[in-house]
Amino acid sequence: MSEDTGRARQLLRDAGAVIVLTGAGVSAESGVPTFRGPGGLWKEFRPDELATPEAFARDPRLVWEWYAWRRTLVAACAPNAAHRSLAEWALHSRKVTIVTQNVDGLHARAARVAAGNGDAAHALPVEVHGSLLRDRCSGCDARSEPVTVDATSSATLPRCTRCGALLRPDVVWFGEMLDEGAVAKADRAAATADVCLVVGTSALVHPAALLPLRTRAQGGLVIEVNPEETPLTRVAEISIRGRAVEVVPVLLVRTA
Ligand code: NAD
Ligand code: ZN
Repeated sequence: MSEDTGRARQLLRDAGAVIVLTGAGVSAESGVPTFRGPGGLWKEFRPDELATPEAFARDPRLVWEWYAWRRTLVAACAPNAAHRSLAEWALHSRKVTIVTQNVDGLHARAARVAAGNGDAAHALPVEVHGSLLRDRCSGCDARSEPVTVDATSSATLPRCTRCGALLRPDVVWFGEMLDEGAVAKADRAAATADVCLVVGTSALVHPAALLPLRTRAQGGLVIEVNPEETPLTRVAEISIRGRAVEVVPVLLVRTA
């Protein structure tokens, strides 16, 4: 174990409260592509054609085709050692709040596995960008379990059983507001944390990227795990260059 890893481990163990902020990098080794970086989704697809409310209004079939593909992709992936160790930790230590920008549901899956027949609630993440695995009505906003989507034509797209408007994936698109409740929870966790552990995010998307700064402004510390340098690196007390699956399980010592 490097000196930095040992020090980070100690800080996490001694902290009174911890916020863990994760991004696409934590799921990279589960086989979910990141958006930026090598193999990133935005290299192949244009976000303005797919992940905006305007795109959905213009061509809902195309947008659903992409999301249906991403759902299939995520369903074939499994939580990795980083998701699993974070879930175990959050389940057994009330001081931990997991906040994720990911929409892949892998933290929640890991939490349910860790809890077994018990209550997974405390290990469930705050999903600030929503979830691929949930639908929302584009008319009345009602959220629902995901339906199987037939995106072969606009006539076969799923519709709300209450108001008849098109259903859409319950994710936050470019230019949309984040869910207020989720943001408030994340902000509270960041403001009260002694340590913000940031894993696998390029820290470019706001407001999630501001959470570590919030912890720091309140006198807390930032620990970063990422194979690459990011804009957060210079504000981090400790920055560990490594892959989430290798570093995260080593960092987390279970404390009650
Ligand atoms: P990003 O794609 O911008 O950046 C990924 C980061 O992860 C990079 O800094 C990269 O260096 C790092 N990384 C790559 N492999 C890693 C590994 N093995 N271990 C640790 N870190 C690794 O991702 P982001 O910052 O989360 O971007 C934000 C947006 O992308 C969010 O809005 C999110 O909703 C969306 N997104 C989500 C998913 C998902 O749900 N899995 C996938 C792609 C994008
Ligand atoms: Zn509706």
